[in-house]
Formats: sequence, C-alpha cells, structure tokens
Amino acid sequence: MHIDVDTQKLLEATTLRNAIDYNGSARLDTVISKILGSKPEIKNNLKEVIPKIKEIVEQINSLSIERQRELLLQNYPNYLETKKAVEKNEFQLPPLLNAKDGQVVTRFPPEPNGYPHIGHAKAAIIDEEYAKMYSGKLILRFDDTNPLNEKIEYYDAIKQGLLWLNIAPDIIKNTSDDINLLHYYGRELINKGNAYICLCDQNTIHHLRSKGVPCLCRVQSDKILENSDKIFNGFYHQNEAIIRFKGKMDSHNTAMRDPTLFRIIENTHPLLGDKIILWPTYDFAAPIEDSLDGVTHALRTKEYELRNELYKQILKSLDMRIPEVIEFSRLEFEGLPVSKRKLKPLIEDKMVEGWSDPRLPTLMGLKRRGFTPEAIRRFVLSLGITLSETKPSIEVLEAFNRKIIDSKSKRLLFVNDPVKINIKNVEHKEVEFQNHPSIEMGTRKIYVKNVVFISRQDAEKLKNGMEIRLMELYNIKVLQIDIDKKEGIVEYTDNILKENIPKIQWVSEEDLVKYTILKPNKLFIGDSFNHNSLQVIEGFAESFVTTLSNSSMVQFMRLGFCRIEDNKSAIFTHK
Ligand SMILES: [Zn+2]
Repeated sequence: MHIDVDTQKLLEATTLRNAIDYNGSARLDTVISKILGSKPEIKNNLKEVIPKIKEIVEQINSLSIERQRELLLQNYPNYLETKKAVEKNEFQLPPLLNAKDGQVVTRFPPEPNGYPHIGHAKAAIIDEEYAKMYSGKLILRFDDTNPLNEKIEYYDAIKQGLLWLNIAPDIIKNTSDDINLLHYYGRELINKGNAYICLCDQNTIHHLRSKGVPCLCRVQSDKILENSDKIFNGFYHQNEAIIRFKGKMDSHNTAMRDPTLFRIIENTHPLLGDKIILWPTYDFAAPIEDSLDGVTHALRTKEYELRNELYKQILKSLDMRIPEVIEFSRLEFEGLPVSKRKLKPLIEDKMVEGWSDPRLPTLMGLKRRGFTPEAIRRFVLSLGITLSETKPSIEVLEAFNRKIIDSKSKRLLFVNDPVKINIKNVEHKEVEFQNHPSIEMGTRKIYVKNVVFISRQDAEKLKNGMEIRLMELYNIKVLQIDIDKKEGIVEYTDNILKENIPKIQWVSEEDLVKYTILKPNKLFIGDSFNHNSLQVIEGFAESFVTTLSNSSMVQFMRLGFCRIEDNKSAIFTHK
C-alpha cells in the first residue's frame, strides 16, 4: 500500500526515538501505540500499515545505536528533546484558605527523635512550597519536649535531610527555647480555671477517661490551687502529677477528655540538660508555639484530626490567635513502613546495615539508593495534599526519578553470572562506545582480544550454529556452549549489520573488573521483615566503571540504573 511522506517520516522518527530509548532495539508494540496516538486515523487501515511499521522497526533495529542516534539527530532533531518544559510547573498545590501574599507563615515541626524519612520529606516540602507560593516564611521548629526520645544526633540528621532536599528554612528554632513561656501559659490556663493538676495514677486516669467521668482532682481543682505552685517548683517526681486540660469528660471526641498538657520527665534534655523536668506535651506546645511564632497556616497529618478541636480550644482559652489548621495524609510506601517501632528493631538486630541502608525509607537510605531530591519533590507535589489513605507504590517515585537521572547516567556494560566465550579466527579489536545514546557524554574505548564474557541468561538461549551479534562489536557463530562449565566456543563470522540476529551484551576479558550490585527489594511483606530484601548480584563490569566517582549514577544496560558505591560495587536504583 502507499504511505504518504508524512506518515513515513512519523514512522521513522518514532521508531528511531524508541530504539534509542531501548538500547538500540525499538519495540514494535510501543511504536504502534505511539503512532496511533499521534495519528489516530491510521486505525482505519491498520492491516496495511502494520507490515510497513514492522519493516521499518526491523530495518532500524539492525543499525548500531550510534547510527540510529545520528539519523535521528540529522533528520528529526526535535525528537531528541524530551518534554522537560512541561514538567516544570506540572504540579501545583491548591490555594490556601485565607492566605495573603507576603504574609503566609508555615512551619515544619519534627521531633528530633529519629532519622528523617519520606514522610518528613512530604511535610517539609509542602510547608516550603506554600511559603514560596505566597512569598512567605518557613520555620523549622524542633519540637523537642520529650527528653526521653531526643538526641543531638537527630537534630543534625533532620537539618542534613532538609539541606539535601534543598529546603532552606527562614527561621530555625526549638520549642525548648520557649520552655519558660510555655510554663507561663500553663499557669495562665490553671489560673483561668481551664487546667488542673491531677494526682491520680495512670490506671485511674485511663479508666475514668474511657468511662467519660471526671476525677476528684478536677472536681476539687478550685480549692487546691497550691498544687499548681508545687508542680512548677519541682515538688513532684515523674508519674506523681500531671497538668490536664479542663475539656469535656463525656465528649464524643476522646481527645477532649481532659488530655495531658504537662508531664514530669526526669531525663537529661539534649539542649537544656537537667534544668527542666516539667515538659509540655505536643498537644499543648504545638498550638502555643504556632500562635507565638506567627504561623498562619499549620499543616499537619491526618492522624491529628481528632486533636484539632483541642488545638483551637487551648488557644481560645488563652485569648491567643488561632492559625488555620490544614490536614494532609501522611506518606509511606507500600511494604516500606516509616514507623520507628518497625524500623528500630531491624537496626538493633542488624537485619539492615544502619539508618542509611538503601532498603530503608529514610532520606539517607533513599539518597544512597540513588533517588534525587528533585524527584522526591515532584513526586510529593504530584500527590498534593489529599487525605487519601492509600499508600503509593515506590514505583511512582521511581518514574519521577528516572526522568531526572536518565540524561545524567552513562550507559555501561555489566554481565551477571558470567559465561566465558572463546572467539576463534578473530583479530584484536578496539571498539569505541558512546557513553550515552542521545546526549553528548564522550566515548570510551574497549580492547577485545579473543575472550569475552556474556551473562548466563543470554548464554542459555544460544544453540550451536546460531549467529548472534556481540553488541557494537561483530557477529559470531556459536560452535559449542556448556552452561554448567560456564564456557563456550564461538567463531567470528563478519561485521555486517544484519537484520533479526540477537544482540548480546558482553564484557571483554582484557577490560573487566569483578563487580557487585546490591539490589534492594521490599523491606516488609505484610507485617514481617522480608529476608530476601537485599539481593546480591555478582558479575563483571567493564573497568571504566572504576574511573567514575562514588555516588555517580550509571545505567547498566539491561539491568537498570545504579548508584556507584565504590570501585567494586553499586546499588541498584530502579529499572
Ligand atoms: Zn485526678
């Protein structure tokens, strides 16, 4: 059938582009669907067009990737460009209620009780994006009012994490800086009759709370005001007394049943030492601090939903300004929990390497695995501030990351489970490889004598008499393959580009290093630790890999993107 010039060009350009995207082999089904996407009318004579597409795909696949790249550059340069321009403002958060330009203040309030993870990244990015959107301010406030859990190490880790995410807060402070103010407002609440000292034991408190009945301390609180001085003066010890909000003991919202505002913790605080023992809870500290810090929009995760009434009630009782409170769903990936309760035992029992283990959802772990902060930001913004409880798959983040690292990663050869191939009747040869199929990243030379290694999975498909092409090198005919002994003999045939012969990846015996790739898999299956969460892939890589600096990203053809760990190993990022 006759195909017009436009369609012919579209076919060629699409196939070339696809071939380059897939290491030299365009995929027929992808090409067809792309063509139909750009020219739906082709559907009407699909029967005639498909053989034509097939012909072009075969013809282009028989070319070397360098030639494909050359043709695309010469004839269809606009197909080299990806759609970066569109991505820039791809995702926009919805506007904030009652927000005025130049006056918005948001805050990211982590407790310094662990290493920052993907959930922290989400909160911090949303807080920062809103501050930027309204030319406002972002406060980083360490909510450090529980000396049982907090360590200097964690303050630092959170600062490092934000730095990596390119988040620069306008103000950095600690809730503990304001401990005297918080005590002052605690006294105020008691003086106004909105809070009281409770001396009951924990069981009694729990029991009466579940029944919705007040304890005697509340009933008599007006008469025994001297207890208030005692608690502020250090008379009581841990578990002997707490300060409770006078809420509503029979409220349907259990968060309003006289929650704890202050408790005594006799542990050394990382910043204040042993000076203070009466510490406010998050329920008390958060609204007071937000109000005092000038926060206009307090964004927090949905698990605090029930506590919003309390947040507002505390401020109202003290006649303080009440910020807008906005909720979003917390972020964690399926099979990759962020809770310390689940992760800490893995570290203590040495099931993982530490907080920077590439299997973990910590920022250190994600960084080590090869995720970029740009990808995390785009991913977070793509989720928006919905309240949906579904856990996204990490593959969604991978797709964002791939778009970013693809143009920065050199393509290298790696064969796992290597099978030795002796080549007969061949001259020594030096081949030049492009470091990237479509972007100028220089070239490298590989010297081949008469032995190469191919991966076992490729070797298993070979049969005697079969002709194959060693990628970018030349064609060979299989004489003998012994998978168990991991060796084979082949013979050089020629170096003519032929259609329809399989192309195989190889590593030259003259130019190889033993190389290990660590591949993280899901950390948890259901509720239990996945004992196969780290796969070790051993093989040979071309020695060029040892010239690359640690932390650089590469794409081992066929395997996927990896982050170089040192000159012997890399961590698998994703396909
Ligand atoms: Zn009581």
